[in-house]
Order: sequence, then C-alpha cells, then structure tokens
Amino acid sequence: MSTNNKELLFCPLGGVGEIGANMSLYGYGEKNFHEWIMIDIGVTFTDDSVPGIDLVVPDPDFIIQKKKNLKGIVLTHGHEDHIGAIAYLWPYLKCKIYATPFTATLIKEKFKEKKINIDDHLNIIPLNGKIDIKPFKINFVSLTHSILEPNALLISTPDGNIFHTGDWKCDLKPLIGKNMDTEKLKNIGSSGVLAMVCDSTNIFTEGRSGSESDVRDNLINLFETIEHRIVVTTFASNVARMESVFKCAEKVGRHLSLVGRSMNKIYKVAKSCGYLESVKPPIDPRDAIRLPKSKIVYLCTGSQGEPKGAINRIVNDEHPDVELSEGDTVIFSSRIIPGNEKKLYKMHNALCKKKINVISEENAFVHVSGHPGRDEMKDMYQWIKPKISVPVHGEHRHLLEHYNFANSMQVKFPTLIENGDVLRIFPGEPKIVDKVNNGKLLIDGNKLIDEDNLALKERKNISFHGLLDLSVLISKNNKIQRNPIINIRGLPFDDLEKNEIIYELEDKFFDVCSNINLNNKKSEKLLIDELKSQLRKVIFNRCNKKPFMNINFIKI
Ligand SMILES: [Zn+2]
Ligand SMILES: [Zn+2]
Repeated sequence: MSTNNKELLFCPLGGVGEIGANMSLYGYGEKNFHEWIMIDIGVTFTDDSVPGIDLVVPDPDFIIQKKKNLKGIVLTHGHEDHIGAIAYLWPYLKCKIYATPFTATLIKEKFKEKKINIDDHLNIIPLNGKIDIKPFKINFVSLTHSILEPNALLISTPDGNIFHTGDWKCDLKPLIGKNMDTEKLKNIGSSGVLAMVCDSTNIFTEGRSGSESDVRDNLINLFETIEHRIVVTTFASNVARMESVFKCAEKVGRHLSLVGRSMNKIYKVAKSCGYLESVKPPIDPRDAIRLPKSKIVYLCTGSQGEPKGAINRIVNDEHPDVELSEGDTVIFSSRIIPGNEKKLYKMHNALCKKKINVISEENAFVHVSGHPGRDEMKDMYQWIKPKISVPVHGEHRHLLEHYNFANSMQVKFPTLIENGDVLRIFPGEPKIVDKVNNGKLLIDGNKLIDEDNLALKERKNISFHGLLDLSVLISKNNKIQRNPIINIRGLPFDDLEKNEIIYELEDKFFDVCSNINLNNKKSEKLLIDELKSQLRKVIFNRCNKKPFMNINFIKI
C-alpha cells in the first residue's frame, strides 16, 4: 500500500468506443503532477462521407499541453490503428519512442516519408525486453496476433501493475515469430495485477480464433486443386500469411509474385528484421506475365476492396502487369470487415461475371482472425487474474459485452469507460475522475485539420450541390465594369443550357445591382447577400439544386 498521495490514472484518447485510432495514456504521480506515458498512436480510416479524407487521428491536445511530463511513446505492434499517426503527431510531442525491431522499422519508413530523422528518439527494444521510464517500468511480453511482434505491456508502478494486452490471440502455432509463453502469463498473474486493459474486438465470437498453421494447411489443399492462375489477397502486414502463400506456391511448383506497394514494403521490412529467410525470392510481375498460367501465384494488396489496392486494379483490367482470364482463381484470405461489404462484393461480382473463381471466408477456410474469441479471453482472465478490468479496442457494444464477460469471470471491478475518460486505477476503487478533450483530427493532404474545419464544409457543399462562381470588376468610383465572369461547375447542365443560364444569371445580376449602390462596405455586403439569394434561385428553378456560391469583387 502506498504511503504517499500518488495516484495511477488511465486515459484513452482514442480506441475506446471505436475500433481504430488507438491512443492510451497512463499517468502516475501526485494530483496535477502526473508523469505520463503514451501507448500506441494509431489512425482510423474514414468512410466516403468526407471527400478527400482517408485518415483520422486522435486529437492529442490534452497531452500536448502536458508534453513536458510525457516520458515516452511505447508501441505495442505495427498495425496502422496503433502506429499510423506517429509521423503526423510526434512533431507536436517530440518524446522518446520505444518499439520492438519490426515495428521500429515500419515507423522509421513513416518518418523517412516525412523527412524526419527519428534515430535519436527511437529506442529499439528486443522481444521480451524491458525499459525503465521512471516512474514506470515496462516489460514487453510477446503474444500472438496477425502481425509480427505483437506485445502486451506489463506496466509496473510503485502502486500496482497494469497488464496492457494490446491486440492478441492465442495462436499455439503462429508459424513465424515468438510463441506465446503461457507460463510467463501465469507468473505475471500470480505476482499480482491491479488492472488489465484488454482487447474487446472479438468478444462476441464463441470459441477460439484458430491458428495460422490451419490456414496454411488448407491453402495447400486448395492450391493443389487449382489449374489456372492463382491470385491471393490478404493484409500485407500479416507476414505469417505471406509466408504461407510463399510456401504453398513452392509446394505446388509455382512462382510467387508480390503485387502492390505495401506487399513489397512489408516483405522487405520483414526480411531486414530476419524473417522470411526460408522462402524463395518472389519474381517481378513483369516476368510473371510470361509464365504459363499453372506456374504462377500472385499475392496482392487490397483485400478490403481499397480502390487503389492491386486486386481492385486487376479486377478492373487497369493493372499494367497482371491480367486474369476465365478459369483463374482469386482467394480473399481475409475477413470482410463490416462496412467494406459493398466494395468487396462489387469485386466478387465482377470476377464471377468473367467466370473467375472466387474463394473467400464465405465458402472456404482461408482466414483466421487475429483477435481472441471468448475461450481465449477466458484463458487470459484466468492467467492474469486482474482486480480491475478495462475493456478497450472496441465499439460501445463490444465494451459492454466485455464488461459483462469480465463480471462473469469474477473480476472484482469491471469498468466501462470511453475516449477522454480519466479512470483512476489507484488508490481506492476505480473511478472516472475527469473527462478530457478527445476529439479527432483529419489528415487532409499533408495537413492536420479539425473536424469542423470550414474547408471541409465547403468541399462537402461543393461536392453535393455544385459551384456557382462570379467575378465582378469594379472601377475606382464604384461602378460595375462589364458583365460578370460566371463559372458553373458540377451542375447537371449541358453546354447549351449552361450558356442560356449564364445569360439569365447576367440579367438577374444587373437587376439586383441596379437597386444597390456600391458606395461603402455595408452596401457591398448587402449586394453579395442579395446576389447569392437571387442567383441561387435562378439555378434552383432550373434543376432543384442550390449550389455553393462564391462572389469576388475585383477593384480595378
Ligand atoms: Zn488494433
Ligand atoms: Zn493489431
């Protein structure tokens, strides 16, 4: 028991109440004098609702204000929802980063793209290594997941230990990387764990997630039955799956060719960290195209139907080096992530139409999840025996189910929190003691912007309603010179109708202007407002749409 006034806090800024954009903070110290560490710093992907925006990151404002007391960022593993924001947000934090070799190599690439030299700040930690970031001592604990080097973190403080699982599953034959050490986990549990902060992704899934080695066995069986070209698509970051496809290709006497930027990048990173040593080198797709159909396997990016993914381009006959024809087979060795069904089924349909065979998790055993089913969760709770359970890495429905699950596992204090909650883990019973800013920032080009940024509203407006742009030349003595220059964009008119409308708009323009004198700023504003309202009406009467309007007065 502590004899001082120190408290231990947990505060997620992202990843709790959502799947993605993970960013967790632990604070320890006297009230208002806490020292902090950040675990993970990830992105989430947007749907199509915001044009031009693909990535969203947690708003780190709360910790930027306290960056003097931020002792470091510790990364559990290399998935984008855990590391994707690092090169965007680190410049505001400028603290040390701790990661195991594979994750470290991935983030180095990200910093390189941003032209930031991170070497002086990046600490590469060996698997199962430990670090001392006072007042926290952290042990990396190798688990299994769907990427190399997934780590749980045992975070020790003078007032208790926290087991932060990161993303995990129990894969007894992960094929590549370290095996899970269940004895070690039991020992951690026996030494006393105050709180477990645990992955909730598959809390609704009964049983176990299954092993990568089962997928490999099944892929070999499948490959043996296929005569023509084989195309496999999966997440590039799943290096065990990548190795499986290499091995299966070799087993059936085929060459393997990697297609897509991230597939090639992950292959190189994995090789540089000493993985994939036993696979035959891939061949270039430009050479593969000359091989007989029965001699090639392509491993492609785009398993979630991403428009720029290799498989999407291949399906649409837009790939310069890969073509498919009747009788070929495409294997989607991945989960259909909710929200991506439309894009994926569009691809499946296009393939079926061309008489190309489609194999997916819907009709064959070609994928296992990287997250624990309920039986694995049961094991983890029995090994770790936490006093407090904090469900994370889930939407609200997952968190509530996990809360109930923890209750059924006789956890003394199951908790339910969301982004921005400050949960006091010690002293006393766990309690939400504060709520901090926990919004999101959007990545627009190379800039970070707020969700309510005006540019986004304008962009959305223009993309839905079209644009009417008017430039008006004004002389020194406030007289309108010549006809206004009118541009209509994104509205459903052909050239002929456009010309008619422009005449109509010009007439309306002079009508409105004749009633307002442009002798001061106030009348200029009045004129702009009146023009906007009247000219928009002209368009509305034609097509029932109210365009975004832009009016420029140019003084000459
Ligand atoms: Zn994750
Ligand atoms: Zn993950």
